[in-house]
Amino acid sequence: MTQAPQDIDAQARRALREVTLPDGATLDASGRLGAISLRDGRINTAITISPAEAQAFEPIRARAEQILSGLPGVHQAAVVLTAERAAPAPPSLIKPKTKPPILPDVRHVIAVASGKGGVGKSTTTVNLALALRAQGLRVGILDADIYGPSLPTLLGLHGRPRVGADRRLIPTEAFGLQAMSIGLLVDEDTAMIWRGPMVMSAITQMLAEVDWGRLDVLLIDMPPGTGDAQLAIAQGATLRGAVIVSTPQDLALIDARRGISMFRKVDVPILGLVENMAHFVCTDCGARHDIFGSGGAEAEATRLNVPYLGAVPLTMELREASDRGRPVVALAPDGVIGQVYQNIARRLIDAL
Ligand code: ADP
Repeated sequence: MTQAPQDIDAQARRALREVTLPDGATLDASGRLGAISLRDGRINTAITISPAEAQAFEPIRARAEQILSGLPGVHQAAVVLTAERAAPAPPSLIKPKTKPPILPDVRHVIAVASGKGGVGKSTTTVNLALALRAQGLRVGILDADIYGPSLPTLLGLHGRPRVGADRRLIPTEAFGLQAMSIGLLVDEDTAMIWRGPMVMSAITQMLAEVDWGRLDVLLIDMPPGTGDAQLAIAQGATLRGAVIVSTPQDLALIDARRGISMFRKVDVPILGLVENMAHFVCTDCGARHDIFGSGGAEAEATRLNVPYLGAVPLTMELREASDRGRPVVALAPDGVIGQVYQNIARRLIDAL
């Protein structure tokens, strides 16, 4: 059953007047409270915050949820924190060339992207970053994969980032890399719903409100896909270029090509393609199995006129190292997989 929207809205807002924010305003009057809906006994609303406020607003979110769940006719309440400032202009209206540089001390901002999730984009970002560092570069990683931030797991990061004297966040250092992830700012079980404009606003803040210091390369682990948010980042973050991660099957399909054409549309050069899970290396016999055939991805990259940076095999070692938060290139930079990433890093540096 759905209650008349205006009734539940007024009732809930009245009840929420007792919730005060850190600046003394009531939640109701702060303008941060989103639309309130009640359906089948479940009430939903959102509180708008900036990502840096997530920790401070968690008790407020919990209190609001508790109050709403006590309203008559409500069995369950869900209040989420969302990060949204003024909605950014649609991608077609953003003019990167007229914007002041947001990362003046970073030489190259590079997006690592994939047409869809689960192809190993984050694994590639982390190991590529470590391989670039092994080449003597100062490297940072921004985990912009807001829907499923995996950098804390991959690098074994814990604790909240510190805030510097200028109130900017200080990246967490791990294995010699500077790292920042939305996963470090909110509790894992804190409900966060992100829509296109919010993703863009959160990412802009992680670029501009984090003290990245002087870096040679900042890799952005992009949200998967090619929607408006990805397009807006591609246009807004003054990218030097993009690295596309793809599995062999994915390349043959349409997803990776979509990623490539999205960057081309906004004049971001494709620095190269990394083929992940290219072949399987058997744990028992050490033999290489070309499950998806060999050479197809490289040929496809040539056809698409994209530099081919290299092939990363599917191995147990890589998966286990990632899950343990000790990336394989950090553990064994000169091992077989370490060398694979180092070669990819060298080709990427050449492309720069
Ligand atoms: P994405 O960022 O594209 O969603 P992830 O990097 O999180 O993908 O990888 C998805 C899963 O696949 C993770 O469990 C990761 O450890 C595993 N994985 C990625 N690349 C490889 C690889 N080359 N060999 C084995 N496992 C891999």
